Amino acid sequence: MADFCNKCSAHLFGTQLTADIDVYRISEELQLDTYEVVLCEGCGLSAIGKDKAGQIYVAYPEGENFDPVAQEVRWYTLDEYEEINKQKSNI
Ligand SMILES: [Zn+2]
Repeated sequence: MADFCNKCSAHLFGTQLTADIDVYRISEELQLDTYEVVLCEGCGLSAIGKDKAGQIYVAYPEGENFDPVAQEVRWYTLDEYEEINKQKSNI
């Protein structure tokens, strides 16, 4: 079964359901200076991270290389995530 992040889940199923990839819950539980790899089938969200200062970031694939090992990503803040998801979502 496909997993969806908060924005995609809300778009597809409404806000009553908890997202499979709950960015806000996951980011709260992250230790400082770590990240968790995820895969949203809707927008391509690929990781959620927290820096040493506790700032949350999300990563989206970048560039033409879709090899999962060599995949390049670009990190965005949670505020940017709200906007980017709308733009990238193709569902
Ligand atoms: Zn998504």
